[in-house]
Amino acid sequence: MSEVPITPELMYRLLVQSVKDYAIYLLDADGVVLNWNAGAERAKGYTAAEIVGRNYACFYSEQDRANGLPRLNLELARQNGHHAMEGWRYRKDGSAFWAGIALDAIYDDDRRFVGFAKVTRDLTEQRASEQRFRHQSLHDSLTGIANRMGLVERLEAQFPEIVYGSRIALHYIDLDRFKPVNDVFGHLVGDDVLREVARRLEALAGPAAFVGRLGGDEFAIVQLGSPDGAAVADMANAIVAALNRPIQIGTKTANIGASVGVAIAPGDGSEIPDLFRSADLALYRAKHDGRNCVRFFDASMNQQALARSVLELKLRHAVDAGDFHLAYQPIVDGRSGGVTGYEALLRWVDQTGTHVSPAEFVPIAEELGLMPKLGEWVLRTACREAATWPSPLTVAVNLSATQLGDEGLADLVTSILTTTGLPAERLELEITETAVLTDLDRASATLKRLRDIGVAIALDDFGTGFSSLALVRALPLTRIKIDRSFVSDLDGHDASTAVIQCVVALCRGYGLATTAEGIETERQRDVLLACGCDTHQGYLYGRPGTVVAATAAPLPRQNIHPTSPTLE
Ligand code: C2E
Ligand code: MG
Ligand code: MG
Repeated sequence: MSEVPITPELMYRLLVQSVKDYAIYLLDADGVVLNWNAGAERAKGYTAAEIVGRNYACFYSEQDRANGLPRLNLELARQNGHHAMEGWRYRKDGSAFWAGIALDAIYDDDRRFVGFAKVTRDLTEQRASEQRFRHQSLHDSLTGIANRMGLVERLEAQFPEIVYGSRIALHYIDLDRFKPVNDVFGHLVGDDVLREVARRLEALAGPAAFVGRLGGDEFAIVQLGSPDGAAVADMANAIVAALNRPIQIGTKTANIGASVGVAIAPGDGSEIPDLFRSADLALYRAKHDGRNCVRFFDASMNQQALARSVLELKLRHAVDAGDFHLAYQPIVDGRSGGVTGYEALLRWVDQTGTHVSPAEFVPIAEELGLMPKLGEWVLRTACREAATWPSPLTVAVNLSATQLGDEGLADLVTSILTTTGLPAERLELEITETAVLTDLDRASATLKRLRDIGVAIALDDFGTGFSSLALVRALPLTRIKIDRSFVSDLDGHDASTAVIQCVVALCRGYGLATTAEGIETERQRDVLLACGCDTHQGYLYGRPGTVVAATAAPLPRQNIHPTSPTLE
């Protein structure tokens, strides 16, 4: 077999002709096709015989031809030596494909211009997958609306408008009670609730606004078209109203509610991060003010954010320095007036001598991750002090969400009871619905273990949170503490009396004891006794203070300054 000599020309021709993924061919100076390879035939459907001699403009759309695009592209390649582009091109059968094209001006050995080399690649699939990827990266897969990145991108596109005096309102939305819904009804229902929230927000937004999900249960509406103050307020109130309507998912009804923080560019932020920060501060205020409401950003919020940072610093320092003590408030048998135990309440007096309320600093300590240490100190100190009181006086200790979520809690309690010598049945742990719902499964497992040890479990502040009967049944509770807000309503409000009667009857049905909190008047005491609630706590019987005469006799009513040991 004689070998065919491979000349450079043959190599070149074989190379070009056998390439199938690229259409490679030459055009003359006017764009007439001079040759054609296998890739070109595959990409465009013409055989060499059909296309050689025709102008390459036939690959373009009619519109592009009318606009002179084929000639313009040749001119650009001629001027610059090279011209790369992407665009729709058409096959012989009329179907379109997205083409990536390189057009090079070519010269002969004497540097005379002879035409163009053209390499075309079908990028339709690649473009579609890029677009899918782009869509995915800018949209929330659960609800289909823009995600944070998508929202910011659209906002960025609008921002130049504010230079010309336009205003943009950012409504930062946080669902008030999404987590409990998710925990109690399950994630599938939770997902449906989020989809419905997105749908309602989209319906509100209309054409002059756009919607995004910023993550978890946070959403945003960006209002365009330079809305005035009234239009912005209308939108914010409409958001709260829309999300206040119950959401029905199958047989389940979710009442989620929402808080909204509003910031308006450019006044509240002329850069996107500043606008978000302002809206976030306004949202923080809305949540702080009881949720289910709208707050507009104002400059004083920056001041408050600063004050909060200072408080955080002081709190960290106080935990290190052990600047805490416990105050004990008596829990009383309302019929006899005899003290049955005390609730331990955490007290912090800062360096300047100011008493900071636990209602204010406990949530911050929780956020800062200080609660495990502080909570353990409370448990240990309360048990140690209670062990010195005569039996059967009990001590009630409040637990935070992180403590409840800690798998080691039951072991910790066991070890504290052993070292302090306090019998388990004299310890009651108070939990809140919010703390339980932070991680329901884990909390119930921990509570069961605590019940097994013999420790009592009270559900605190009942009536202020989710107040789910399903939850009351599901948890191994021994007591419900009826929140102060119901007790203070008792003076003359028949409805509140009825609520208390109901709760007491219900608790009896479940075998649970009840305590009423925040009793300040004799009338409240009498109504509660008449309702069948006879374990009482409140200023009427005694303020939080030091346990002076730890007997089962009523405490004196005045506040006694506490002298508990400090944090170890
Ligand atoms: P809580 O557990 O519901 O405690 C009852 C709160 O109501 C206490 O407020 C108590 O001083 C107050 N109080 C009691 N009787 C009356 C009354 O007749 N009228 C009025 N107006 N108030 C009354 P305090 O001590 O400010 O504690 C607030 C909350 O801080 C507590 O509510 C509890 O949730 C939390 N807390 C306190 N100590 C601790 C602790 O050691 N750990 C944790 N995790 N939370 C704590
Ligand atoms: Mg309590
Ligand atoms: Mg309470």
